[in-house]
Amino acid sequence: MAKLAKLDDIVSLCKRRGFIFQSSEIYGGLASCYDYGPLGVELKRNIRNAWWKHVVQMRDDVVGLDCSILMHPMAWKASGHADKFADLVTVCRKCGTRSRVDHLQDHQGSVEEHTEHIDIEAVQSKAAELSRKVCPACGTVGQFGEPMAFRLMFETRMGANVEDTMTLFLRPETAQGIFVNFRNVLDSTRVKIPFGIAQIGKSFRNEVTTKAFIFRTREFEQAELEFFCKPGTDEEWFEHWKQERFNWYINLGIRKENLRFREHAKDELAHYAKACVDIEYKFPFGSGDWQELEGIANRTDFDLRQHQRGIRTMNEWYDKKGDLTKITLKEEAEDYLKGPLAYFDEETRERYIPYVIEPSAGIDRSMLAFLVDAYDEEEVRGEQRNLLRFHPALAPIKAGIFPLVKKDGMPEIAMNIYQDLKRYFPVFYDEKGAIGRRYRRQDEAGTPFCVTVDGQTKEDNTVTIRHRDSMEQVRVPLDQVKSYLRDKLDL
Ligand code: ATP
Repeated sequence: MAKLAKLDDIVSLCKRRGFIFQSSEIYGGLASCYDYGPLGVELKRNIRNAWWKHVVQMRDDVVGLDCSILMHPMAWKASGHADKFADLVTVCRKCGTRSRVDHLQDHQGSVEEHTEHIDIEAVQSKAAELSRKVCPACGTVGQFGEPMAFRLMFETRMGANVEDTMTLFLRPETAQGIFVNFRNVLDSTRVKIPFGIAQIGKSFRNEVTTKAFIFRTREFEQAELEFFCKPGTDEEWFEHWKQERFNWYINLGIRKENLRFREHAKDELAHYAKACVDIEYKFPFGSGDWQELEGIANRTDFDLRQHQRGIRTMNEWYDKKGDLTKITLKEEAEDYLKGPLAYFDEETRERYIPYVIEPSAGIDRSMLAFLVDAYDEEEVRGEQRNLLRFHPALAPIKAGIFPLVKKDGMPEIAMNIYQDLKRYFPVFYDEKGAIGRRYRRQDEAGTPFCVTVDGQTKEDNTVTIRHRDSMEQVRVPLDQVKSYLRDKLDL
């Protein structure tokens, strides 16, 4: 039975072994920003690759994209982010702590209310609820100031001349880059609906509260898929992606008892969404432990339709200063099926705006879940062994290569194995210190196998291969080490 990891154990292991460091640490650190160290960068890349393999490479109906972080400001106007991507915040009158209204807990219950980012117009309806909420910092009930909208997008400026600089936003999600390229992908590939466009990249949100290490940060990486389908088939595709994404985590080693779905109730759905489900992981922190790992939403035709309107506004009603609300519904209805973001089905001769199913995952957040789930401590012959039971596909180093001792020709043989294997997957050569300690170091890095050259190697050309999880050791002929490992690693 694996030990339940505490967040402190994970943070300390990550720093000690070079998975994750505080950003700008030598200057005292920058709150909620993190740097990925030598092992962390490999783990993170493996998570990205596993996602890409599952969502793009293994399918015939998904293509990839990599968009710029900076986009035309109209894209954020049209998507609704410029006006509505905000959290409601309130300040505790007693201790001055600022909190997100939807993260405050009820005095009576302890249910955390998850909501999509709140429409600014909903401010008043939330104010009344604050009388029964508890300040997470000082525990005072109902002493909150008026809720205020807090815009989550970071602003920056583009251009060198003071007169013509332009205010831009750092993207708060990767999805909009996909929507604005919908026509480009249609025109440059042979995709036909149903199909998806996938992207992994950095997103930025000026979060009101950051928390729990890399769980919620202001700069993070998202892996998003926008899957376009014909209206009417959307519910089926929603179910498909729900199962696919859940199974992805399980197949990469997350224990089933730590993963669950949480369906959003109708009244917490974002106004454009027809359905939404979170995949939640039982993190060892926070209220109630279960926290969102990934959201899967049926976004209907909202996004493409909004950009269709955005383009019209730019091109034909520019004098209305980009105010999309000035376009009448009649004008839109007449026009939007003629625009570039409408899809024409050549077989059925139908023209429509596709519906979108969006699985949206956090790479950093899932990295935390993989670390927590893999963490284990056990007693071996009176000594504590710390290990990360990573799935081989995620392990930063696939095998440690050791000479038992630093003499009798063993280092040379081990070095040859190392030089050969590193052409195929990441391996690590180590000849320093007692062999037991070298095994422990690799256990803690999550390395699934260790190959040791010993006295017997020179006699019969075999080495030992030690398995991380069971600590079992088997003898394998030298010329079969590569195929043995590739087979076990599924590489
Ligand atoms: P929350 O309500 O927790 O702020 P959200 O519902 O706004 O999150 P989405 O917009 O659905 O989050 O983002 C999709 C995924 O991106 C999340 O499930 C999460 O894994 C990741 N993510 C979102 N915000 C952050 C963040 N600040 N730090 C790290 N990962 C994030």
